[in-house]
Amino acid sequence: PARPIFSEQLPAGLQKISNIVAVSSCKGGVGKSTVAVNLAYTLAGMGARVGIFDADVYGPSLPTMVSPENRLLEMNPEKRTIIPTEYLGVKLVSFGFAGQGRAIMRGPMVSGVIDQLLTTTEWGELDYLVIDMPPGTGDIQLTLCQVVPLTAAVIVTTPQKLAFIDVAKGVRMFSKLKVPCVAVVENMCHFDADGKRYYPFGRGSGSQVVQQFGIPHLFDLPIRPTLSASGDSGMPEVAADPQGEVAKTFQNLGVCI
Ligand code: ADP
Repeated sequence: PARPIFSEQLPAGLQKISNIVAVSSCKGGVGKSTVAVNLAYTLAGMGARVGIFDADVYGPSLPTMVSPENRLLEMNPEKRTIIPTEYLGVKLVSFGFAGQGRAIMRGPMVSGVIDQLLTTTEWGELDYLVIDMPPGTGDIQLTLCQVVPLTAAVIVTTPQKLAFIDVAKGVRMFSKLKVPCVAVVENMCHFDADGKRYYPFGRGSGSQVVQQFGIPHLFDLPIRPTLSASGDSGMPEVAADPQGEVAKTFQNLGVCI
């Protein structure tokens, strides 16, 4: 039989984690990493012990979005395990901290990298591990979801009709795996200018998804220059402005996970 692309047993490093949350999207560039990082820092701000696993090996965003002093993952040479780096109390693992930069890889190599990072990391005791999933619903995502005992999934999308079709795919993947899809985040849904609210990508797609698939929560995240700037600066917006609008949205998301 073909060798499974991920280890079959629950990795030892994941055993002391209470909740593992997948943040997923069907396309790149919709704000999945922005949501994953801000959700993680919101949970940490609420007093939880949190880690982020950036499984987006093709385009790891985590190294840009946070600024830990130590930008390289350390190895424990005796146990041959990976020690996460840390920023503002959140434990972090990303291929982007592995010192190899972005790579051109075939599917099985990607799976191998994710598998290694997952199986050898010493997360310790965590209340939440937030997984920034690779975009899409292909083999890698499916197997990752089967190997990791996910407790919840959050789907990130943009308001276009086309995105609706993608979300449906994501919802189907998680429901097949019996992972509860607790929320959809409709990102870049509007922006405010000159005292008016604009909906550049149209409206209504998110509520259609929520109704059709019975997802309990829908959150709107506006287009905000500060969200983009904070992502680029390495300081998550919810940590920089814990009383702001964005932080409030993420607190509401945090409590439903
Ligand atoms: P993905 O993980 O889906 O590829 P990212 O989270 O990396 O997407 O977001 C892509 C880019 O869009 C980043 O530069 C990010 O800062 C920016 N961005 C995401 N959401 C917003 C928003 N609501 N307002 C402004 N910029 C955003």
